[in-house]
Amino acid sequence: MSSDAPFADAPWMAPGLTPDARAALLDAALTEDERYGLLHSQWAIGFLPDAPLPEGAIPAAGYVPPIPRLGIPGLYETDASLGVTNPRNARPGDTATALPSGLAVASTWDADLAHEAGAMVGDEAAKKGFNVLLGGGMNLVRDPRCGRNFEYLGEDPLLAGVLSGEAIRGTQSQGIIATAKHFVLNDQETGRHVVNSIIDEAALRESDLLAFQIAIERGAPGAIMSAYNKINGHYACENDALLNGVLKGDWAYQGFVMADWGATTSVHAAANGLDQQSGEQLDYRVWFEAPLRDSVAAGETPLERISDMARRILRAMFAAGLFDRPLPKGEPIDYAAHGRIAHKAAEEGIVLLKNARGILPLTGGAKRIAVIGGHADVGVLCGGGSSQVTTGKGHAAFIHAGGEGAMMAMASEAYHPSAPLAAIKRSASGARVSFANGRYPSEAAMIARDCDIAIVFANQWTTEGADVPDLTLPNGQDALIDAVAAANPNTIVVLQTGGPVLMPWLGSVAAVLEAWYPGAQGGEAIADILFGAACPSGRLPVTFPQSTEQLPRPELPGLGKRWAAPFGPRVDLAHAQGFDVPHPEGSYVGYRWFAREGHAPLFPFGYGLSYTAFSYANLAVIGGDALTITFDVTNTGPCDGIDTPQVYLTHRSGAQIRRLLGWSRLRLKPGERASVTLTADPRLLADFDTGRRGWHVPEGRYDIALARSAEDFDVHAGASISEKWIKP
Ligand code: BGC
Repeated sequence: MSSDAPFADAPWMAPGLTPDARAALLDAALTEDERYGLLHSQWAIGFLPDAPLPEGAIPAAGYVPPIPRLGIPGLYETDASLGVTNPRNARPGDTATALPSGLAVASTWDADLAHEAGAMVGDEAAKKGFNVLLGGGMNLVRDPRCGRNFEYLGEDPLLAGVLSGEAIRGTQSQGIIATAKHFVLNDQETGRHVVNSIIDEAALRESDLLAFQIAIERGAPGAIMSAYNKINGHYACENDALLNGVLKGDWAYQGFVMADWGATTSVHAAANGLDQQSGEQLDYRVWFEAPLRDSVAAGETPLERISDMARRILRAMFAAGLFDRPLPKGEPIDYAAHGRIAHKAAEEGIVLLKNARGILPLTGGAKRIAVIGGHADVGVLCGGGSSQVTTGKGHAAFIHAGGEGAMMAMASEAYHPSAPLAAIKRSASGARVSFANGRYPSEAAMIARDCDIAIVFANQWTTEGADVPDLTLPNGQDALIDAVAAANPNTIVVLQTGGPVLMPWLGSVAAVLEAWYPGAQGGEAIADILFGAACPSGRLPVTFPQSTEQLPRPELPGLGKRWAAPFGPRVDLAHAQGFDVPHPEGSYVGYRWFAREGHAPLFPFGYGLSYTAFSYANLAVIGGDALTITFDVTNTGPCDGIDTPQVYLTHRSGAQIRRLLGWSRLRLKPGERASVTLTADPRLLADFDTGRRGWHVPEGRYDIALARSAEDFDVHAGASISEKWIKP
């Protein structure tokens, strides 16, 4: 703030003070009403008839009014990790750059790209006037049927933690607050408001909590959003053990905890660690106003806690610079540059799953190409729910999803205006490209038969608020692929899916690309990979199972049952009847479960093909106090490419175990070699000891593998390390 600004002389503006000190000084200046005013946000969309758009709000997810008397800015909160959203066109015509889905970004395994993407979204948010981004989403993918997997960063705590931490750091580099969410174990959408996730404490520490811990250490998010679900019997928003015990106690987290929208279920949440109620019109009551004042008066909530809540919110605002720098609201956004970031993320996140006979890249031989299905003539698919971004000139197609409940009423299968068909036509100059919509397999087969190459686009739309009942491709697309593959042996399948799907036709198609939801320039990115303008480099951040029978929960709990309490405004969730979801896999999430159970996946975590090849050499492991791994990678193939060598722990003192310890991401020219050194985070070698409340690395020999995926080990080595205890 400049020195002639009205509050330049206020004590909390004195130079050299820490955010904590400034927050304490400002809290002391608040009246009681002002303080309580900070503790709850309004839903700022104006959908509900009795909850009009709050005065002063920017239409978006949330709003806390400013306190002009003290120069405290309002909080203007927008979703989310994949770009700045504009739900129901609440800000008419305002569009933003759509990143590819979280799983696409995670498939790059690229921390720098995650940072760049986070900074891009932060820049757009700030220039649109928002100072709180409700991203990054980072729940571990525990069930491939979860409708929100596309928003998250995969199944491994190190990968998700690092990428989320970097995305958050990127967003906050733009002078706004980012939000790690949803804390924690919000791993299915079915019954999300009433579901009770049951898990062993040590297992939770070694998995989802570790992911958050790593993200918080790297990204220092100003806010954490607590989830809808219960964990071990207590709602996430009032889970004393997790909020006060782990987050604020063991990890000494300094920011504030905001509730998910409609997730605050009682006034006890305040004493149990929740700092801000969100979207208050959605809750049964505005708990953090009169009920909280009453609770303090009755001695149930300590008075000191109210100041603590306000201080945490103010501290995050000071740390982000909200008092020191005006937001660049209204400044022009460089959409062209941002489009290039979305393009790069899509391109580097596409995973080549199969490439028989080296059919890809398509380098000129094909004269007749059939493009079939998936609305490829219109655009690329994006996931539904609060993260759905409107990009470019707006959605190219919008198909009403239908279904019961508040979420499904709002949900729609939307397509970003980046048509793969047009991009393919541009890349396949000289070839005749024809399109069939794929509605009738017989018609598609007829067209495919007449072509050299058939490219089938197959889509699985997923959305917040609903899980998929199984992993088949919907709308008869498996039959479509079967028919096309039978008509043409050069069939290439491009998948746009929210997560893993089954591929009963895998043996009869020549190539498969997993393009996820590829974002604002997805069509162009897909064409670049198909025609070799870019070399595929994505690696799966999730395991693709062969069947749901291989999953920890072959049946998705609660699927098809009516929830005891449907989601909707002002439902009393505190007394809703829920159901339990046991987590027998514990910390053995994804590939770890598959390894422990001896299941062979369809495609393993970490897997992805390239148009070039890489060899590994000189693996060495140094033990002692830490585990340090060195090796060399050479591009032995014909073109420039990116490799992602991965290091897994395979045995601890002879006992089998599987954990990703680290990876490197190397861009190499043909013949080029690079040397890599990785040091394992000791928590990945450890067990969490709930008795002594800390991480225990037992003394012994640690064997590792240098690998191409969680199932494809190239070279092995090992070393002994000494015992270690690490604070929780
Ligand atoms: C979602 C959050 C989102 C919030 C605000 C909720 O339904 O779970 O991820 O940030 O809405 O839109």
